[in-house]
Amino acid sequence: MAFDYDLFVIGGGSGGVRAARIASGEHGARVALAEEDRMGGTCVIRGCVPKKLMVFASSFRDGIAEARAYGWEVTARGFDWPAFRAKLDAELDRLEAAYRGGLERAGVTVFDARATLADAHSVRLATGQTVSAKHVLVATGGRPFVPEAAARAGVLTSNDIFRLDALPGSVLIVGGGFIACEFACILNGMGVKVTQLYRGEQILRGFDREARDHVAEHMREGGIDLRTGCGVAKIEAAPGGTRVVATDGQAAVFDKVVYATGRVPNTEGLGLEAAGVKLGQRGEVMVDEWSQTAVPSVYAVGDVTDRINLTPVAIREGHAFADTVFGARPVKADHALVPSAVFTRPEFGTVGLTEEAARAAGPIEVYATAFRPMRSAFAGRPERALMKLVVAADTRKVLGCHIVAPEAGEMIQLAAVAIRMGATKEDFDRTVAVHPVMAEELVTLRKPVRTA
Ligand SMILES: Cc1cc2nc3c(=O)[nH]c(=O)nc-3n(C[C@H](O)[C@H](O)[C@H](O)COP(=O)(O)OP(=O)(O)OC[C@H]3O[C@@H](n4cnc5c(N)ncnc54)[C@H](O)[C@@H]3O)c2cc1C
Repeated sequence: MAFDYDLFVIGGGSGGVRAARIASGEHGARVALAEEDRMGGTCVIRGCVPKKLMVFASSFRDGIAEARAYGWEVTARGFDWPAFRAKLDAELDRLEAAYRGGLERAGVTVFDARATLADAHSVRLATGQTVSAKHVLVATGGRPFVPEAAARAGVLTSNDIFRLDALPGSVLIVGGGFIACEFACILNGMGVKVTQLYRGEQILRGFDREARDHVAEHMREGGIDLRTGCGVAKIEAAPGGTRVVATDGQAAVFDKVVYATGRVPNTEGLGLEAAGVKLGQRGEVMVDEWSQTAVPSVYAVGDVTDRINLTPVAIREGHAFADTVFGARPVKADHALVPSAVFTRPEFGTVGLTEEAARAAGPIEVYATAFRPMRSAFAGRPERALMKLVVAADTRKVLGCHIVAPEAGEMIQLAAVAIRMGATKEDFDRTVAVHPVMAEELVTLRKPVRTA
């Protein structure tokens, strides 16, 4: 049977765009892609990129204070959100155009429309058109989840923060995951009075416990009213804002409330189940290690599969799919030892096993140090950095590395290379320090602080 395309990609985000470009540009497949919103997806339009630019913008409050401590005479007149927003919008327009241009140059046909699966080999577009394809890739990502009562009260999600016309005076952030914590730090840095409620007993569930405690302590020291073990009991629109009663009985009116209580895969109304694609409990597309669904012609990559919801992982999965199916080069996306960063203040970089997970797997040694980095110590600031290695007692391999420090994301990227190569504690020790930098602590950790 002759198909209109070799591949139809639903979703123009990190995973979909990479798969389409590789399948078409490198392997010569006839490829089409449908995007219902802006090209580039979550990462480019309402995730990593605008968020990191906001992290930079928010960092200058402390930067200015630090400059003074170093002898600079500076007068800051406050943060001009509209000026920043205008530049942010222009940058996102530029990136969106670059993504679109990349697809066009690779020979991909783009449909600016919502697409749904009609059957194993055809896709229905919102324009009314139906097209056929030998393979379909579902790369529709995820979206913020907001409980009903909160939605009725008109709360915001992370999507809305980038589009605010003005910064609120006060904000309540509900949630304890990385997105909630990052926005708490960003808005705090921009001068907004931030309260954060999280019903769990500590933020950043799933990360290394010691690092979580370290980040939480610094967020509080930085001025965020972070209340853990405390959720929202009641929420309603009120004159001038949103009134929230917390489960500890405290009530307050906030200018804005942001819910960052998790994300759900975008599979609703996509026609997947009718076509035979299996979904998991949270609505995620179930795939095997080749990203293939229960329907052999249909594949899925990225957040919609709810494996590891990070941009570089979606890109790897999309690339591996394209090489496997169109390049006669079978590759599986590798989900082991994926490094990541949480852009809180201070930043947190992590790779490998947490101390808790490693301890459950076998005997370990923990090497850790918390210290005042030279730069902030000189400025009289109280922050401490945390550097931690989790080592297997028998093989001596470094199983995990956790860093809470300025630029921890940059440091963890390089530590991850060594750890992926199977570096032992002694390999770290043999590496001569770079002096004076924070990361030298990683190669000068002499005695374990704990064994288990
Ligand atoms: C606030 C925030 C901060 C983040 N920060 C980081 C970070 O610092 N580092 C990191 O690695 N990751 C980060 N992430 C996660 C990262 O953005 C995602 O993992 C990544 O974008 C997933 O890519 P994807 O291709 O699976 O989906 P997406 O990028 O979400 O793309 C899916 C696309 O499909 C489109 N679509 C959906 N349904 C249809 C349909 N039926 N028809 C047509 N188009 C459709 C959507 O409009 C969207 O453009 C962050 C996420 C958020 C929300």
